[in-house]
Amino acid sequence: PVRIGVLALQGSFREHMFLLQKVEGVEVVEVRTKEELGSVEGLIIPGGESTTMALVAERWGLIPELQSFAQAGKPVWGTCAGMIFLAEAAEGQKKGGQSLLGGLDINVSRNFFGAQINSFETRLPAPDCVKSFGSTDDFRAVFIRAPAVLSAGPGVEVLAEYTLTAEEAAKHGRDRVIVAVRKGVLMATAFHPELTTDIRWHQAFVDMVRLHWQQPDAASRQADKA
Ligand code: GLN
Repeated sequence: PVRIGVLALQGSFREHMFLLQKVEGVEVVEVRTKEELGSVEGLIIPGGESTTMALVAERWGLIPELQSFAQAGKPVWGTCAGMIFLAEAAEGQKKGGQSLLGGLDINVSRNFFGAQINSFETRLPAPDCVKSFGSTDDFRAVFIRAPAVLSAGPGVEVLAEYTLTAEEAAKHGRDRVIVAVRKGVLMATAFHPELTTDIRWHQAFVDMVRLHWQQPDAASRQADKA
């Protein structure tokens, strides 16, 4: 089986583990230490509260370990707070500030959709990587104090976009925002697939991890970079 870790410091890690257990051929690992991180082939950074999660990660000495995991080209999927964590920039704040790991060339707005009271749910068209798992249906996108991607660098693939309501559009001076991206083996979603019963996003991530490690040169590339 492929070993997938879920960063278990804070936030919705149990929900991710629950859905991952439904994906075939996966061994799920709770990641709280350097050793646990070193043992996994792909990592999910859950939603929660990015500042708190970063503080806990810092206290446990995990920030440099997480940074080198992503920099070594190993697969990471960040949901919501996890997306913020992976971003190179959050509203002008540069990585290197305590709360960003960086690695993914996106600029995010941390609380784009407002406070807790503005949490909402909608359906969005599934991107190809998600559609390939049994159903081409739209997916349920659950946004909780959600971030959004304001801009993405070259080569960042947009997996999902959200069309703003008239009110939101007037407030932000734009019609659409990006809410899911992928570049190489780094994936980020502003919404929470782990809070639904649809396992296709988890399947897509596991598939990406599996493909990555099947490439004959993947292992040696890791070694070179280490
Ligand atoms: N906006 C939150 C933050 O800054 C993320 C919310 C979430 O993960 N549900 O961390």
